[in-house]
Amino acid sequence: MPTWEYAPAPEARETARLRESYGMFVDGEFTDGSGAGSLKTVNPASEEVLAEVAVASKSDVDRAVAAARRAYQTVWAPMPGRNRAKYLFRIARLIQERSRELAVLESLDNGKPIKESRDVDVPLAAAHFFYYAGWADKLPYAGLGPDPRPLGVAGQVIPWNFPLLMAAWKLAPALAAGNTCVLKPAETTPLSALVLAEICQQAELPPGVVNVLPGAGETGAAVVAHPDVDKVAFTGSTEVGKQIQRIVAGTRKRLTLELGGKAANVIFDDAALDQAVEGIVNGIFFNQGHVCCAGSRLLVQESVYDELLDKLKRRLGTLRLGDPLDKNTDIGAINSAAQLARIRELSETGEAEGAQRWSPACPLPDRGFWFPPTVFTGVSQAHRIAREEIFGPVLSVLTFRTPAEAVEKANNTPYGLSAGIWTEKGSRILWTAQRLRAGVVWANTFNRFDPSSPFGGYKESGFGREGGRHGLSAYLADDDTVQLGGGS
Ligand code: NAD
Ligand code: MG
Repeated sequence: MPTWEYAPAPEARETARLRESYGMFVDGEFTDGSGAGSLKTVNPASEEVLAEVAVASKSDVDRAVAAARRAYQTVWAPMPGRNRAKYLFRIARLIQERSRELAVLESLDNGKPIKESRDVDVPLAAAHFFYYAGWADKLPYAGLGPDPRPLGVAGQVIPWNFPLLMAAWKLAPALAAGNTCVLKPAETTPLSALVLAEICQQAELPPGVVNVLPGAGETGAAVVAHPDVDKVAFTGSTEVGKQIQRIVAGTRKRLTLELGGKAANVIFDDAALDQAVEGIVNGIFFNQGHVCCAGSRLLVQESVYDELLDKLKRRLGTLRLGDPLDKNTDIGAINSAAQLARIRELSETGEAEGAQRWSPACPLPDRGFWFPPTVFTGVSQAHRIAREEIFGPVLSVLTFRTPAEAVEKANNTPYGLSAGIWTEKGSRILWTAQRLRAGVVWANTFNRFDPSSPFGGYKESGFGREGGRHGLSAYLADDDTVQLGGGS
């Protein structure tokens, strides 16, 4: 195979318009808050500090929730849906206008390759606002009754793997439905949510409708536990999801949880193998494998195992790992030292338990957090790397002989977020998809997202759906829960 030499093609860092420090966004204004301190967010590709960000304390949470309540009661819920739609369209267009800035900022703060932030994260974030803007004046036609009502104040906590996109997934449906929001971004990636707050200001969104509170778990816990929050939406680890469920239990708060996954990507012997290889690579190496619905368990039919593994290894040898801002980069940096330590620990366990580890020749940069694309073969169902979410560029390969065995192995997991099926036969796609306990099942593709398509899990992957009409129902009340007061 010819090898290609790529000249460096870096995107200009100045495009991000980084500032030395960022405040929190409360009641339409940026502020340092009550002075609870600050956090430093780093570029995981270089470990350089990018900016200092004010951390929200419990009293800042109080102020943000009070602002959100006021905005809910006085402007946002009473506003006709067609007018709310105008603000959402405006936000969507401003995301597009500032897309290059947002993409560079996201790659700097998160470590993801610029071609992903540019071509996936930012356009999908805009698409979510466009999509839900279209629903704002059509809520009576969403199939949720003739007069569905907003819930009130939504407390929303998001992770670091798709910082801007997760903010859009949370804010767009909530706002379209007439709720107001208090959003807490993840501590390692707060910057794009703060620029989104700036975009809300630019769009002249009424003060208090969106509030953004950076901070770590403590800030998140204060948002979730606040008695005047009506709805809690969380995306993150299953462990924290369970804690939140305990906090919310016994209150009137509504809850949706989008948690972890350990998805099976099932390759039948009649699949187009070259296409399947692209799907496998996209499934587990997209965003360094920091994807809750990543295809982290590859199930291959035995008769094509050797051929598929050869093709996969050859393809992995062509992936380019390095500077996230380079337009040729396929694999960027691991988001944090803590995440890198977890990936290393689980990979070492894989070897200790007897699986075979393989990575292509792949020099790693000296500074920053890096992990090469890694494949484990000889993995059995009992291995930790087949059961636990690694949340990194690590693929565990298992085999099967019959479709029934594939389904049994695919479902043998505490999670149930997504799955992939590769086969030429339409009937086999339907047979398999019906039997997989996963919220999203892709056929002959993987990791495809669209705002009109619902996304969410079974079992320990959580409950509730984001996206599509289903995503609206998480922010609209049944008649008996309609309220203008608090949630507890
Ligand atoms: P995490 O659960 O540690 O953190 C997620 C968010 O919750 C962060 O903003 C964090 O500050 C906050 N948080 C931490 N402790 C909290 C507490 N006690 N109360 C309230 N908030 C708290 O997870 P992470 O390491 O940031 O993200 C990785 C995990 O998220 C993975 O397990 C992944 O599968 C999952 N994830 C799921 C989806 C999905 O849509 N299902 C999407 C992205 C990530
Ligand atoms: Mg960062």
